[in-house]
Amino acid sequence: MLYVVPTPIGNLGDMTARGIEVLQKVALILAEDTRTSRVLLDHFGIQTPIRAFHQHNEHQVLSGLIDLLQADKDIALISDAGTPGISDPGFLLIRACQEAEVDVTVLPGPTAFVPALVASGLPSDRFHFEGFLPHKKGRQSRLQWLAGYPYSIILYESPHRLIKCLEQISTFLPGRKVCVARELSKMHEDIRTGTVDELLTYYQGQSKVRGEVVLIIGPSAGSPGDE
Ligand code: SAM
Repeated sequence: MLYVVPTPIGNLGDMTARGIEVLQKVALILAEDTRTSRVLLDHFGIQTPIRAFHQHNEHQVLSGLIDLLQADKDIALISDAGTPGISDPGFLLIRACQEAEVDVTVLPGPTAFVPALVASGLPSDRFHFEGFLPHKKGRQSRLQWLAGYPYSIILYESPHRLIKCLEQISTFLPGRKVCVARELSKMHEDIRTGTVDELLTYYQGQSKVRGEVVLIIGPSAGSPGDE
């Protein structure tokens, strides 16, 4: 069995009891960054062996992992934070398990975009999860495509690109309401919703934007998603 186990996005109290139980009982934990995950595992007294599984080695180690799973070893997959497979490695391994008829169980748990969307106060009944925009090539055409989408849009963005991203939203999706959800579940959690130009002015006035960021873009006025 492969278990996909979400881990906290900032607050260790969000680790689920079932997640801890699974991480304790499996034969092996696959982690994106073993040093980052060691902190989490030590906190919960989990001594299960851990091995690196990330975007640079996932193709190479896939068949060995399937062999282990087919030899009846239970394995858990975690990422640095949140749910594996959501802007994190996971998809390739899960697909390979399905193809090899290995059972997969995905535990419900922390992920950044759900609390961001719900806290934003922007329409949450229908939405598009975009994740990270391309950094350079293809970024503008992606924003142009998103401009035609009539419901809320969720982006993951790094703090040092936040102002540039808001500038581009102001250009390609002018007048939209936007929410910047920063440092979710952490001590300095900060959720701000306003027009894109209001938020741009606010963040341009800050000396440095720190922490992790989810950006929600609301639907355009008069579109089906605008309530
Ligand atoms: N797998 C994760 C999930 O389930 O949300 C996402 C991993 S992705 C590599 C990391 C991005 O998630 C960050 O750049 C940020 O956009 C978002 N993120 C993660 N933790 C966050 C937090 N505490 N507050 C706001 N955004 C966060």
